[in-house]
Order: sequence, then structure tokens, then C-alpha cells
Amino acid sequence: MAYQVRGVVAKAKGEPVTIETITVPDPGPGEALVDVQACGVCHTDLHYRQGGINDDFPFLLGHEAAGRVAAVGEGVTGLSPGDFVVLNWRAVCGQCRACRKGKPQYCFATHNATQKMRLADGTALSPALGIGAFAEKTLVAAGQCTPVSDMADPAVAGLLGCGVMAGIGAAMLTGNVQPGDSVAVFGCGGVGDAAIAGARLAGATTIIAVDLDEAKLELAAKFGATHTVNASKEDAVAGIQAATAGFGADVCIEAVGNPKVLEQAFFARDLAGTVVQVGVPTPDMRFPDIAMIDFFGRGGSLKPSWYGDCLPSRDFPLLVDLYLQGRLPLEQFVSERIGLEGVEDAFHKMEKGQVLRSVVVL
Ligand SMILES: [Zn+2]
Ligand SMILES: [Zn+2]
Repeated sequence: MAYQVRGVVAKAKGEPVTIETITVPDPGPGEALVDVQACGVCHTDLHYRQGGINDDFPFLLGHEAAGRVAAVGEGVTGLSPGDFVVLNWRAVCGQCRACRKGKPQYCFATHNATQKMRLADGTALSPALGIGAFAEKTLVAAGQCTPVSDMADPAVAGLLGCGVMAGIGAAMLTGNVQPGDSVAVFGCGGVGDAAIAGARLAGATTIIAVDLDEAKLELAAKFGATHTVNASKEDAVAGIQAATAGFGADVCIEAVGNPKVLEQAFFARDLAGTVVQVGVPTPDMRFPDIAMIDFFGRGGSLKPSWYGDCLPSRDFPLLVDLYLQGRLPLEQFVSERIGLEGVEDAFHKMEKGQVLRSVVVL
């Protein structure tokens, strides 16, 4: 049997999204059907709508979600109807060279549901990041469902599915922030603030938030920033050096996706420090023009961070528990709760930097 539900669809490049009736099949082998309870609005959804990811329209948007498993297909183990899950876009395969080396967080062959969700006329939908959760029900690979404590608010827990996990992981996993470290975070949107929260959780004692917007810097302080640098008023590198006895930060996290900012992060590091690039650049951006002697002479490392190098099965339950214990203020990422019809409007608020996350609640 198949289900008819409402979903938010981007039908053509750059056009406003619409709510469509979509058909979601029963789960086949290795798949799970999920009753979506909440799904955050992410920049990546907007990139899909603008044709910035690929041209496989129509897209079923939404990918930062939590919900209840409604049914599982043949051969699925470790997941049952009724389980409260956070969806992820990295269902590891267990077979590829990364998985076999014991590094499943880098799995090179992650998978999604094999059956298609469709529009009423039969057109196959491309689900955003293989999820498609701005819908009352969605079909995913069972491995995309990570059970977590059902004491958590779905609107909060679902955010771990993408941007918030990317930020926390950029600090804790990619950046490997240690107790006593100094950390600078460039760009204080959802991902940057999550990096700040992750740095605090990891024990960083100096956390410097850098942004152009004073209101964002104030919010960053609530997530754990100990210092703020308004880069519209002062030089970011000098500001970070001033907060670190002139040395620079042990870990600089670029959460904007901009060559100029990457260059600042590079020079704001202490010797042997780490730069983490978690902000997503556009294809036209070029690496900053940095003298090789500066790269060599400063030592340390430059590390891109995809999805915060997370392993959902390990990290989602842990972070949900820390949130429930009051040690990780995930609820502060939820700026507003909206319905499916509010997604287009939420894109505009996001573009203007007025929200950390608008979350669709079903
Ligand atoms: Zn793999
Ligand atoms: Zn996302």
C-alpha cells in the first residue's frame, strides 16, 4: 500500500516551493517509513530550490528531521515501528574501504531508499540529501534512522540531523578541540553557534565568536563565546590575537564558506594550530592566495569538515542525552516553529539572517 501525504516540493529552478500531495510507498527491503514530527529549514534546502546542487527537479525538500518509525521493510534489524529517530544523510554501508578500515564516519558509499516517492502524476521526486522530510511521511534507508531518547523534543532533536551536528562536529571531531584550547569561530549562524557550543562542551576555555552582525555576536555569547570580534569594526585576526595573548587560536573554524574568511582563519591560528572549513563554498570560489612558506612555516593542519565528521549511530544519542541533561543548549537553535506552508517564508528570513532555525512541526 502507498500513502498520500502533503509535502513541500521545489518544482523548478528558483521558483517558490509549493505544497503537493505526494505518494509514499510502503518500505521495501532495507527501508523504513517515518512519520515526520519536525524538520528544520536549512540553507541546503534553499540551494536545492535555486538549482545550486543539481538539476534533478522536482525536489522533495527537508532533511533535518525527527519522527517515529511507522514501518520497516524486510531484513531491517535494530529498528522497530514506534522508535523515535533522528534522520541522517550518512547511512554507512559497512563494506567500502573507509568502513573496512574502521572509519565509517568517512563512508564513501552511503545509501538512501531505493523506491521513489512521487507526485500525484507519477513523477519521481528527488528527496533532499536522500531524506525529503518536509512531508507528513517519508521513506528512507533504515540506516538513515538513528534511535534516540524519546524524551527529547522532536523540533530540537531533528536539528542534529544536519547543520547543528556539522557545527558541533567541526569543533569536537574535525577540530579535536581539547580542554583548555582557544577556539575562534568565524560566522555565527546555526553552524557557527553549534561549533561554539561544541567547543564549550569539549572544554575550550577561550572561545572567540567572529561575525559582522552585533545581534549574532550577542547570541553567540549565549552558546558559550567568551569573546566577540565584530569584523565590520575591527580586524578579525588582530581581534583574535588580542584575545589569545597575541598568539592566535589553537583551532579556527570557518563557518561561512568564503575565501577571505578562510584566509583570516588561516592567519588567526597559533603555530601548529588547526583550521577547520565547515562553511560550504560555492563552485566559483578559489582558495586564498597564501604564500607556501606561510603554510609550511606555521605548521598545523587545514581540515575540511563534512557533516562534522560525525557517525550518527555514535553521536546522535550521545548529544541528545547531553541536551536532556542540560549540558548542551540545543533548544536555543529553534527560532520559530512553523507549518509546511511556512517554508518559503522561512527561506527569506534565513537569507536575511533573522533566524537560526525555523522548524516545521507536524
Ligand atoms: Zn562504507
Ligand atoms: Zn542541512
